Amino acid sequence: MRVKKAEFKGSYVDIESLPASGLPEIALAGRSNVGKSSLINCLANRRNLALTSSTPGKTRTINYYLFDDAWFLVDLPGYGYAKVSQAERKRWSLLIEKYLKERRQLKGVVQVVDIRHHPTETDKLMSEWLGYHQIPRTVVATKADKIARGKWKTQLAAIQRELRLSDPPLCFSSLTGEGRDELVRAIGEMVGI
Ligand code: GDP
Repeated sequence: MRVKKAEFKGSYVDIESLPASGLPEIALAGRSNVGKSSLINCLANRRNLALTSSTPGKTRTINYYLFDDAWFLVDLPGYGYAKVSQAERKRWSLLIEKYLKERRQLKGVVQVVDIRHHPTETDKLMSEWLGYHQIPRTVVATKADKIARGKWKTQLAAIQRELRLSDPPLCFSSLTGEGRDELVRAIGEMVGI
């Protein structure tokens, strides 16, 4: 698979209003600020297709990006966002769970973690949950450019162990494009094109 074209399709606040096209979907999950928007822009080869966290008023919605008129990358609300109420967090987690459980077009999940840090409790829960529900998944350890190359292997092994993965996560940087080709390939396999 190659990415030639990507466009923003829309933002949605509930499952009922999601696009009904039936095209395959790949969801992006990760804590807020982990680098999901930057990863979308990197995949799309665009600067501002997805608004990064430095953008004021970034909304916390389910955002759809159409790639090559063939599949959707679905950015789920980042979890663990500090500045919102408990009630709002609960609403997001129910929304994410409902989407992941019920969305028939869902072909797989790209779970994004920060290569520099131990996975959070929510990262671990998400990992366990995806495993339990047997949802195909690729774990991406992003911001690789922020640590020395010589530390990559140890960090990847630690994340693999803590998330109990059968393989190490994919080493990625939106800044340098490290891991981009592998991620496109992994998504292609999940989408089946
Ligand atoms: P989101 O909340 O998960 O969508 O995170 P963003 O994509 O908005 O990224 C959060 C912050 O991390 C921003 O300031 C980004 O510029 C920065 N960032 C994201 N990915 C990378 C990366 O691979 N390398 C570096 N150096 N910074 C990154």
